[in-house]
Amino acid sequence: MQTKQIEIPVTRVRRPKPRPLDDQLGFGQVFTDHMFLMDGAADAGWSDPRIVPYGPLSLEPATVALHYGQSIFEGLKAYRGEDDAVRLFRPERNIARFNRSAARLCVPPVDPDLFLAALKQLVAVDREWVPRAPGTSLYIRPVAFASDPDLHVRPSRTYCFFIMLSPVAAYYAEGFRPLRIRVEDRYARSVRGGTGAAKTAGNYAGSLLAGEEAQAAGFAQVLWLDGIRQEYVEEVGSMNIAFVIGDELVTPPATGTLLEGVTRESVLQLARDYGMTVAERPVTIGELLAAARDGTLREVFGTGTAAVISPVGELAYKGERIRVRDGAVGALSRRLFDDLSAIQRGRLPDRHGWTVPVED
Ligand SMILES: *Cc1c(COP(=O)(O)O)cnc(C)c1O
Repeated sequence: MQTKQIEIPVTRVRRPKPRPLDDQLGFGQVFTDHMFLMDGAADAGWSDPRIVPYGPLSLEPATVALHYGQSIFEGLKAYRGEDDAVRLFRPERNIARFNRSAARLCVPPVDPDLFLAALKQLVAVDREWVPRAPGTSLYIRPVAFASDPDLHVRPSRTYCFFIMLSPVAAYYAEGFRPLRIRVEDRYARSVRGGTGAAKTAGNYAGSLLAGEEAQAAGFAQVLWLDGIRQEYVEEVGSMNIAFVIGDELVTPPATGTLLEGVTRESVLQLARDYGMTVAERPVTIGELLAAARDGTLREVFGTGTAAVISPVGELAYKGERIRVRDGAVGALSRRLFDDLSAIQRGRLPDRHGWTVPVED
């Protein structure tokens, strides 16, 4: 992507924090020295982009986002290759999705060139925080929220945008662990016409209880069904879901109720590159049960930035248990994980121009 030169002013920390060792990393509890901030207005867009020391924001109790959930976010990563280069993976897809979420939640859109410049310059400032150990990465979290101190139910007139960074552990430090999943037939995460395709805070708040109940029953996550008939498969936890049925890679279509994952899109492209047939089509839980019984359900896996590929080993639905490959990891799951991870870290040629280098 061609970016015009956008120089963002930087105020550096006086004393950098001690960085955790790569083998002490977890997820999302350690933050780097700096963050990106800018201020938004409904009528005038975004202003005063700046990189400043990471620290608390000061908010009034009346802040709109806290009351009415007018808040959107993104999630992507920077990866350090064995060549020591730091790369972002398809950031323009996250930026485009952010602006789709913004449109849905009445948040002003962010200029894509400014957004990309902010990502690259912030990661460059905290480049030493990009961990080196295999599988580790720097998680990047852009957020925009409504900041008016005003209890009217209406779109805020003012906004805050920030990007924060967090070095994270390898997701599979102990190898792939296929997940046991409960098919959720009571709660729904999304409905036709709702906000399911937006990355917005409320979608997560609304899905916590189902996740808690599934975990209490011994499952890692829930498989979400559509909100009307509770019949069509949509997502798994906060990942997209895909199936190998016969020789075909199948994933539910993005028709407004599911989040269009960058990993999902990349996995579909890689599978096409492998010569597989790929179908984005509705999948019912009934079709899955039948495919499991007749042996054609060969693989089930989630896709998302955090895990890349998350194999599913078991689905529980209304008292019935569907074992997938007897809990073993499928060949496509493994190949996709290996290839995507390798492209992200510059170990495989980037045939589709997916990686964006972060300059020193
Ligand atoms: C972020 C997210 C995903 C995965 O998107 P990626 O861009 O692949 O990380 C899937 N489902 C939900 C609900 C999400 O919020």
